[in-house]
Amino acid sequence: MKVLVTGGSGFIAAHVIDSLLQGGHNVVFTARTASKADHILQNHQNIPKDRLSYVIVEDIAKENAFDEAVKSDPPFDAVLHTASPFHFNVTDPKKDLLDPAIVGTTGILKSIKSYAPSVKRVVVTSSFAAIVNPKQTPEVYDESCWNPVTMEEALKTDPSTAYRGSKTFAEKAAWDFVEKEKPNFDLCTANPPLVIGPVVHQFDSLTSLNTSNENVRDMIQGKFKDGLPPTRVALWVDVRDIALAHVRAMERPDAGGKRFFVTAGFFTNSEVADIIKKNFPDLVSKLPDNYDAQSKEFPYKIDNSRSKEVLGLQYRSLEESITDLVKSLKAAGA
Ligand code: NDP
Repeated sequence: MKVLVTGGSGFIAAHVIDSLLQGGHNVVFTARTASKADHILQNHQNIPKDRLSYVIVEDIAKENAFDEAVKSDPPFDAVLHTASPFHFNVTDPKKDLLDPAIVGTTGILKSIKSYAPSVKRVVVTSSFAAIVNPKQTPEVYDESCWNPVTMEEALKTDPSTAYRGSKTFAEKAAWDFVEKEKPNFDLCTANPPLVIGPVVHQFDSLTSLNTSNENVRDMIQGKFKDGLPPTRVALWVDVRDIALAHVRAMERPDAGGKRFFVTAGFFTNSEVADIIKKNFPDLVSKLPDNYDAQSKEFPYKIDNSRSKEVLGLQYRSLEESITDLVKSLKAAGA
């Protein structure tokens, strides 16, 4: 298939691009600047230009931002929309998080409908943020659950609520669009919780690492030497597994119209510390000498069976993910 991937410079997108290329697909990705895009091409010098190229989309929050990007010859078969801000450095929640997420998502769907009728499947990277219900924890989290966050809460509470709102409203807008506009394509969403694993995308320095790997970076840099923090987000998935989930959601006919809760399960910070101590003797001094094993009793269960049955996912272990992440951070200077 010929596939457009948005936000090609991102942590997850870098693995999505690799997974698509490994699967024999041809990829055009979007990036905000030519220098970010060229860096991705440099990492794939063995891939011919007709299999991997880019188009610049400077700001996904602008109306019609994707009108030109979706036009291609030969035309696209599918679009994977991963671009969306994921950080908590927020001064204006609307401008910094909500607009790029919501306008970016509805914008690309409108552009595809108007200018890319060949596209048959769109996969949007949503999040567990659009599933989690902090107000009333369900017994089991699965694809039927929705975050009940309101726009007022997203605008006025804190950056984390604004981010969760951005993902919830963007995903809802995508499903609404497909229902009302009845375009030529169908939709899937991938809803991962915390995504961790090896970094292969470009980042200027370890201080500007992608948000979801910051906790492990902090651990190996000695930030928690005096004590491990509680595990804030207790569900996780390896970045290579969520990347493959995007590709399979795009490829498999029966994935159409479905959300996918893509998670390997629960983890704790003490397990992560144990894995680092076991596999990296040189980093033992960066971690506390003693700590209690954190409890894995969480007040809810999870059901990720759809991701296994429809997408055929087999999840990597926490040990593989953390080990490969730490190796990649050490290679980047940690
Ligand atoms: P990154 O920050 O690494 O990637 C985000 C991507 O979106 C980057 O390519 C970024 O471009 C692009 N982007 C953000 N805002 C804009 C904008 N206004 N205009 C153009 N491009 C923009 O994050 P991740 O790879 O972790 O996240 C990718 C997707 O996965 C997001 O949709 C995120 O919400 C979702 N997700 C991530 C999880 C995680 O734990 N990592 C968990 C659940 C969902 P640039 O690099 O130029 O800033």
